[in-house]
Parts: sequence; structure tokens; C-alpha cells
Amino acid sequence: MKNFFCKNAKFSELTTIKVGGAIERFFQPATKSSLIDLLREEKGPVFILGSGSNTLASDAPFSETVIRTRFGGIECIKRENDKSCLRADAGVIWDDFVRTCVQLGLQGVENLSGIPGTVGAAVVQNIGAYGSEVSESVKEIEVWDREKKEISVLNRDSMQFSYRTSLIKEDIKSQSPYAPNPRFVVLSALFCLSSNNFAPIKYKSISEYLKKPMGSVEKLWDIRNAVLCVRGAKNMLEDPVRYKSKLMADMMPERLKSISLPDTPNPDRASCGSFFTNPVVSPEKAALLPQEAPRFPAQDKKVKLSAAWLIEHAGFKKGYPLQKDPNAKVALSTCHALAITNRGSATSSDVMDLARKIRKAVWDKFEVDLALEPVLIGLEQK
Ligand SMILES: Cc1cc2nc3c(=O)[nH]c(=O)nc-3n(C[C@H](O)[C@H](O)[C@H](O)COP(=O)(O)OP(=O)(O)OC[C@H]3O[C@@H](n4cnc5c(N)ncnc54)[C@H](O)[C@@H]3O)c2cc1C
Repeated sequence: MKNFFCKNAKFSELTTIKVGGAIERFFQPATKSSLIDLLREEKGPVFILGSGSNTLASDAPFSETVIRTRFGGIECIKRENDKSCLRADAGVIWDDFVRTCVQLGLQGVENLSGIPGTVGAAVVQNIGAYGSEVSESVKEIEVWDREKKEISVLNRDSMQFSYRTSLIKEDIKSQSPYAPNPRFVVLSALFCLSSNNFAPIKYKSISEYLKKPMGSVEKLWDIRNAVLCVRGAKNMLEDPVRYKSKLMADMMPERLKSISLPDTPNPDRASCGSFFTNPVVSPEKAALLPQEAPRFPAQDKKVKLSAAWLIEHAGFKKGYPLQKDPNAKVALSTCHALAITNRGSATSSDVMDLARKIRKAVWDKFEVDLALEPVLIGLEQK
């Protein structure tokens, strides 16, 4: 076990919001079997960390074990005329997986281009963007069951995917407040994708960017590039430099090379992405909101609201409170009302104070409770 032990690890250096205290027991196994060995040996609670792009940790030292998954590869399992199945290990960078699929002419995950994080977390979180969710392409998840101490396979139905959640995420959430300690650790995920170099445009901003109508069928590379450009413009790419590197640029049409993705650090990027999920409410509740409030159909005849609209209409414009306090340690992104950003020296309390203020204002004005999207470590939601 000592082989994978890393000294002086800190959540502030391992999370994209760059907040959080020292980690006393931090391990980074290099292979799947080393991960399983570690999990077998570990008796106490374990927190599994991917790229830390949806994790907010307290500034207090963390004495439990943290294991970071940063290993793995992508394997083509089955290729037929109209479908292919690919297996990706949990530690693979999500966008490397998307790029591979697009390169191979496999349709299904192109709208999820540029989302930070690992494959393991992507299925736990059921990531989604621009009209797609990862659950649409997942067939099976291979997990280490820490209760039974064995590998098991969860199929799509048993994963209970719904909006930004899954069986594993619900289990993690039920174990707060100190630290999520999952029963199931994702080892790999099997995806089944259509062999098709084209996909329909599913989202308005992508249709506007490509100047093509919604539903029109475009090349996978064009959709991927449009998604990266739209995300880049909102500072919602974790590492824009990655997309400018020679290797990435070589693979892409001129359009991506020409967009402006600054190489210098930008405080709008130190975030967990969206800090709040879009609330899903009953039709009766939705009817009580102002007519102009955006509404979208959701599962079980419910209605999905726009958290960004609620936040902005409760008085928190993009960049709040930089308009009044340009030196604020924590603020909403200047490009995105849902992202709480660390402007350089924020603590976890600063982040949570702003989150609580926003939740209270939205509740007071609309009686809608905003749920936090990031996974909290050593912090209380309320
Ligand atoms: C700039 C930015 C933009 C974003 N845009 C989007 C977006 O468009 N759509 C979206 O859905 N999300 C988005 N996010 C959120 C984030 O990228 C995703 O939630 C991502 O899946 C997190 O991956 P990670 O590896 O960083 O997870 P981490 O933050 O490291 O972990 C998240 C959770 O997953 C658990 N976990 C991680 N790996 C495993 C494993 N192998 N087994 C079991 N549990 C595991 C962790 O324990 C933790 O509970 C964005 C974030 C940022 C910073």
C-alpha cells in the first residue's frame, strides 16, 4: 500500500475550485488491480477522487483515506455494422474518451465534449450537457463492491440514472455530512454507441453557433468543436490550453484554432462548474412561477426549472458581487450565473456562505429550494 502513498496532498491542489485542506492519507494507485488491493486492505471510510471538478472540501485537515483514480485505457470490445461497444477505465479523462469516440465515428457522447473529470465520476454524476446525458450511452458499469468485497456489474437499469444522479451518487449523498464513503467504486464503464459520423443538433446554442436549424444532422467533429467553442466562450472548459495543444488542434478543423481561448489563468475557471442543479418540481409548483420563467419537461411528468434564471431573478447577476466589490474572494462567474468561482484566496466557508445566500434569496422569492451539485467533504449543505 505504501507504494501508492503520496505525501503533502491537498484538496486545494486536487480540485478545480482550488479550495480545501491537507489530506493525511492520499493514495494514487497506478492500475486497476492496485486500486482493488488498496480497497481490500482499507478498513475505514474511503473517499474516491477523480479530477476534483465537482468536489468542494473543507479547509480543515482531512484524516480519512482519499484514493485518486488516474489510471486506465480505452478498449474496443465489439464492433458491428451499426454499433460499437467501448470499455473505458474509471481513471480515463472523460474528454479523451469523447474524442476517441468522435475519431472512431461513434455517435452518442459528442455533446458531452469538454466536460472536465474522469469516466468513473461521469457515470456516478450522470453528466449532461447540450441535450445529452451519459446514461444514454452507458450499457454496464464494472464496480468494486466494498460490502461484498468483490467485482460486480451494474447494468443501466440497476444504476437508476436520473438528472445528474445515479444509484452510486444517491448512496454517496446519504453518507454525508463528513465525507462520502461509497459502497460501489467504479472500475470501468461499457458504452454502446452508434456507428455514425453524423448526429443531430439537440441544443439551441449549438444550433446558433453552427448557424444550422435544431435537429439538422451534422458531422460529429463539427458538433464537438461547436460544443468546445460554446463552452470556451463561457469559461466552462477546465483547461482550455489542452484544446490548443498541437495534438488536439491537429485533429480539429480550422474553426477551433481560430477561437480565443486565453492561455493565462482566469478566475472564472476556478469553479466546480454549475454549483446548483436545475430544480425539478411538480406542474402545480411550476405554475406558481412568473410566466417568463423557463420550464422544460422532466421525468414523471415533472417540470425542470432553470436554476440560472431563478438566481439571476433573485438578484444575483453574473459576476456578483464583483460589481460592488472587485476584490471579492468568491463570486459568480462573469460568464455563467450557476458557477461559483474562487477569485484567488477563497476558503470553503466563503464559497458556502455565497451558496447559502443565493439559496435563501431564491427560496424567499420563489419558494424553490436549490440543490447543490458538488460533492461536499466535511461541509454541511444547510
Ligand atoms: C468548468 C466545469 C464545467 C463543468 N461542466 C459540466 C457539465 O456541462 N455537465 C455536467 O454534468 N457536469 C459539469 N461539471 C461538473 C464535473 O465536471 C462533473 O461532475 C465530472 O463528472 C466530475 O468528474 P471528476 O472526476 O472531477 O469527479 P470528482 O469531483 O473527483 O468526484 C465527483 C464524485 O464522484 C465520485 N467518484 C469519482 N470517481 C469515482 C469512482 N471511480 N467510483 C465511485 N465514485 C467516484 C467522487 O467520490 C465524488 O463523489 C463541470 C465542472 C467544471 C469545473
